[in-house]
Amino acid sequence: MSLDFLTLMAVMAANLFMISAVLPLIMGRDLSRAARHVQASLLLQALAWAAIIASSSLWDQALSTLSIACNAAAQWMLYRALEEWLGPRPLRRVLLALVVAAPLGYTLGFDHYAWRVGWANGLMALILAIVARATLYPLVLADLRWRSLLLGCLATSAVFTLARGLLGAFTDQYPSFRTPHPVNLAAALATNVSLVLGTVAVLVAWRYEAEQRLRTLAMTDGLTGLLNRRGFSSQGENLLSHAWRHRLPLTALMLDLDHFKSINDTHGHDTGDRALQLFARLLNDTCRSGDLIARLGGEEFGVLMLHNAAAAGASFDRRLRHRLHDASAAELGFVLDYSAGMAVLQPGEASLAMLMARADGALYEAKTSGRGRLMAAA
Ligand code: GH3
Ligand code: MG
Ligand code: MG
Repeated sequence: MSLDFLTLMAVMAANLFMISAVLPLIMGRDLSRAARHVQASLLLQALAWAAIIASSSLWDQALSTLSIACNAAAQWMLYRALEEWLGPRPLRRVLLALVVAAPLGYTLGFDHYAWRVGWANGLMALILAIVARATLYPLVLADLRWRSLLLGCLATSAVFTLARGLLGAFTDQYPSFRTPHPVNLAAALATNVSLVLGTVAVLVAWRYEAEQRLRTLAMTDGLTGLLNRRGFSSQGENLLSHAWRHRLPLTALMLDLDHFKSINDTHGHDTGDRALQLFARLLNDTCRSGDLIARLGGEEFGVLMLHNAAAAGASFDRRLRHRLHDASAAELGFVLDYSAGMAVLQPGEASLAMLMARADGALYEAKTSGRGRLMAAA
């Protein structure tokens, strides 16, 4: 079987164009930034291949430079998608410099064959290696499977690109990008396979992102943006096991706004909503990083503090009460107050529900003994 390199490249470009045309249709309009970067990356790759094919018949220098520019920009877009999915990635500035330098050096040294092939392919190989590296670390949370697949695709492309660069720069065995040289044929096959598998990888990444967003949504309270009861339970259980494992004190607070029903009745439901949002914001301002806060329902809130004992719980309550007094008078036009119950994790207390039930008992006492105060559970 003899493979025709130009046909392989044409199929590749056609596939890329089809994917970039179809992807927006199946992904829909409401897209994340990462997904948009991926779409742009595929379209740029398609343009890169179309330009390199066209450059064999006309405007060789302009079109092959354009091809390298598009290819480098496509990798930059993929890198940006990875940043959106996985957080800041290493070597961002180096990558950006290489993306600019690859087409620039190529076109400036166009008359020198060994230079331009060595330069463009050498830099593209580096670019691919940096994007491949960006699929790694930190190896937590995000799904490893799509990342390994993408890593494999990018690393393979990097190896073939480097081989082309070395052959072109240091030997006279490599007449051109477009000849049926074994390296070109192997590279074209590998690139075709990488295209298919790489597309699968980014689609899985996109689905994973959507799942994460749904999971976050299911654990978030719509009005205040705090965790809801489900999120509080799930993260609270983790905090509790952490406290047991490392023998750390854990303090729970249950907070309930006082006479909230009459606030709604007097000032209207919208003002009630603003009061809840204000309270949530103050809770956020008062807690420290690592503390867990949530709206457990209605006008009831929960706090879990690690590395803290009763004294810290009481001081949290004092600070919050003080802030709430000032802020509610200023922003709502009336003074908002709350009652609170506190419980410190006790030996033998194995579940979050047990701890919160004691805090709830203390809250009940605070309510019955006059409201507007903190009571500690025995
Ligand atoms: P207490 O001091 O005993 O806690 O009295 P209370 O009126 O705060 O308690 P109660 O449980 O009788 O009423 C809670 C009220 O909270 C009733 C409900 O209308 C109101 N509420 C619950 N969720 C929301 C909400 O999302 N927005 C608004 N505006 N009000 C809410
Ligand atoms: Mg209440
Ligand atoms: Mg209540």
